[in-house]
Amino acid sequence: MKKAKRKIHRCTCKSCAKHPYEKTAQQHQAINRVLLELNERNRRRFVGVLANEKGRGGTSQLAEITGLSPTTIVRGRKEIEHSNKKLPSG
Ligand SMILES: [Zn+2]
Repeated sequence: MKKAKRKIHRCTCKSCAKHPYEKTAQQHQAINRVLLELNERNRRRFVGVLANEKGRGGTSQLAEITGLSPTTIVRGRKEIEHSNKKLPSG
């Protein structure tokens, strides 16, 4: 059974607008497809990981790609950092 509640977010970044069939656009679409499958917490963390990878400006970039608010993404980034520190040893 498929849950088709949410609609896939369409990225509004420049590369997607200019080259909707190129690799970048496909990647952004893939991200949004994965996001559909995740619950709110995991969505936030997944996007947080991606934003961390991009480093500076990552939050606003990911906000554009995923449609999540920057606040949500920053929260995700912080949660990841937090959980990294809390990893049980052994
Ligand atoms: Zn895009």
